[in-house]
Amino acid sequence: HKGWIEVICGSMFSGKTEELIRRLKRAKIARQKVEIFKPSTDKRYHELDVVSHDSNSIRSTPIGFAQDMLLLGGSCDVVGIDEAQFFDEGLAEVCVKLANSGVRVIAAGLDMDYLGKPFGPMPALMAVAEYVTKVHAVCVRCGDIANYSYRNAASEEQVLLGETDSYEARCRHCFTEGMKKK
Ligand code: ADP
Ligand code: MG
Repeated sequence: HKGWIEVICGSMFSGKTEELIRRLKRAKIARQKVEIFKPSTDKRYHELDVVSHDSNSIRSTPIGFAQDMLLLGGSCDVVGIDEAQFFDEGLAEVCVKLANSGVRVIAAGLDMDYLGKPFGPMPALMAVAEYVTKVHAVCVRCGDIANYSYRNAASEEQVLLGETDSYEARCRHCFTEGMKKK
């Protein structure tokens, strides 16, 4: 049987994009038809590339709405999605439709925002996925495993595109300590 959903989640710098690129490159080696989408709100780095923090990259198609993937991704063997947390609430339904029609869907995204709250369409997507992989960063304060994205900047927008100077990966303890001081 073909068609299922894989989710790769974790904090910033946890290697979500790296892991997504690793899986997609292997699918390409096996001559699978692969398409990679990202929300057009993500304007970091090159517009058309999905780029990891260690500068590994793969060509992608920026789209405005999750729905747009049905038309473009329906004829693929594998559909990759990066920065999935920035998509609209229709994301889970779209991924289910693709998987039902035989597509292997691999979505990478932040499971929590900078406040430690579930991020956008991710909880619903994780619920319907066959596989959920949580990857971890290293806490920049203490070296433990980090699952939070701590915001140094004062901004209160949920969508503040990340750079090293405005966010840092933190473990539960160091994240909680930082939030107390705010
Ligand atoms: P994500 O997509 O989850 O933000 P990336 O795949 O883009 O992550 O980047 C992961 C890379 O980020 C690591 O391989 C490493 O080179 C770098 N990095 C920077 N800061 C950290 C950190 N605190 N913990 C782990 N990796 C980090
Ligand atoms: Mg990433």
